[in-house]
Amino acid sequence: MNPEKILKQTFGYASFRPGQKKVIDLILNKQNVLAVMPTGAGKSLCYQVPALINPGVTLVISPLISLMKDQIDSLKQNGVNAAALNSTTPQEEVNPILRQAYEGKIKLIYITPERLAMDYFRYQLNFLDIDLVAVDEAHCISQWGHDFRPAYRQLLEGINSLKSRPNILALTATATPAVQDDIGQQLNIPKENFVITSFARPNLSFKVVNSPQNTPLYIAQYIKKHADEAGIIYTNTRKKVETLTAYLAKKGISVGAYHGGLKAQERSQVQEAFQFDEIQIIVATNAFGMGIDKSNVRFVIHASSARNIESYYQEAGRAGRDGEESEAILIYHPGDLRQYRYFIDESDAYEKYRELQYQKLQSITDYANTGECLQQFIVRYFGQDCSPCGKCSNCLNQDELTDITTDAKKVIAMVYELDGRFGKNIVAQCLVGSNNQRMKELRAKQYDHFGSLKMSQKDAVSMIDYLTASGYLKIEGTKYPLVHVTNRGWDVLDDKEAVHRRIAKVSASKQLFAT
Ligand code: ADP
Ligand code: ZN
Repeated sequence: MNPEKILKQTFGYASFRPGQKKVIDLILNKQNVLAVMPTGAGKSLCYQVPALINPGVTLVISPLISLMKDQIDSLKQNGVNAAALNSTTPQEEVNPILRQAYEGKIKLIYITPERLAMDYFRYQLNFLDIDLVAVDEAHCISQWGHDFRPAYRQLLEGINSLKSRPNILALTATATPAVQDDIGQQLNIPKENFVITSFARPNLSFKVVNSPQNTPLYIAQYIKKHADEAGIIYTNTRKKVETLTAYLAKKGISVGAYHGGLKAQERSQVQEAFQFDEIQIIVATNAFGMGIDKSNVRFVIHASSARNIESYYQEAGRAGRDGEESEAILIYHPGDLRQYRYFIDESDAYEKYRELQYQKLQSITDYANTGECLQQFIVRYFGQDCSPCGKCSNCLNQDELTDITTDAKKVIAMVYELDGRFGKNIVAQCLVGSNNQRMKELRAKQYDHFGSLKMSQKDAVSMIDYLTASGYLKIEGTKYPLVHVTNRGWDVLDDKEAVHRRIAKVSASKQLFAT
């Protein structure tokens, strides 16, 4: 059987999607492969097709039991026999499953990484002829990723202990170049076998909404304008999920709440109601989503920011999996990120790891403050490039492009004067000439640029964020994020470069309702 035939006969699809064929061919040539493809691109098929061609068994490592169940159900619908072995599998079912696999009646076995770490299980696997191990959510193996899972660390050892010496296919939807290299190194995948398809999601329109005066109202009005469309609202605490759900319900919106504090049964009820369009909206913490496969989600709104671009793109990417036009909206409140920073400050992780967390936090701050195309910003973050999308809130921004070089120079000069010793809030206070105790302690009045910026402290912080996102300033530091001047910043001070920013003429409250 060749791959095309299987694709048509078993799965009923006419042609492969970008990247799928290349991955499948490499696997059939007994290569180790890393596939990096966006959510919804069709990663599963990359191992399901070879599994049906190879003589032996394919092991699929997946961290999520709910995901396994969905996959197995849909495989069974296509007439492919697959099974899962995880902590919910009764012991007496394990041996019959392994026997069926031995007899060639089961071609795919889904397991958790923890199970592969069990000695007795590895011993049992040695009776099987295993051709391929597919590692789903492979970014979990990397400490540089955003979702590191210790059980992934021992994967290579587990795979290497298998007598049949299977090949490895690592799959992920979210990996920066550093994480890709790390996966490659840890799982013995040569760089020429990295298959990376575009990160761009052309059917998504990205939008950043800067601190609306009334976030719940903004969301309610947005939903009313999109009355027949399914949407997910993410927020960052259980409490906020509860309050926002109650608020929207009171406005007559059909809505359910989802967070880790609810009973498993309540959670699956809400998830199912959403899946089958019985409720329009789900308000959730980031506990919701991994493993959900609803294709017609038309919008994802982040009522509070995700803590890094990886998580944001993964969550926002749950919109429009069917390829139809959809929106991904980030409502940006600088305060949310301050809270995340506090968590990092207080954590006892080692320095290098904390620094990385600060950097990731900065990346989402930059996203919220950049003037560039938002889709392009995200794609570049993942080490690729694309042309401006033409439909994100930055591409569509009609505000007047204003020369802000004079103010930018003041900010950059102030940062230079302070010599990279302070974070952005202190810099902003110095710039606007705050009169507080901290300024007195620092004898801030002695600085040439103290009080030189005629704007509110909030606007000064926003200015620093904009200059950082645009590459004139940078944030660095292991203990605290400190502001420094970049080479481009120097060019501004040296009059070699001018700084522009789109600045709204309409008042913020008018903007609030313009969707
Ligand atoms: P991912 O794991 O990359 O997020 P999935 O493997 O769940 O994506 O696939 C997403 C959807 O696309 C599934 O419904 C799948 O059946 C479908 N799909 C995958 N490959 C193809 C293809 N070649 N043609 C049409 N549909 C496909
Ligand atoms: Zn754009």
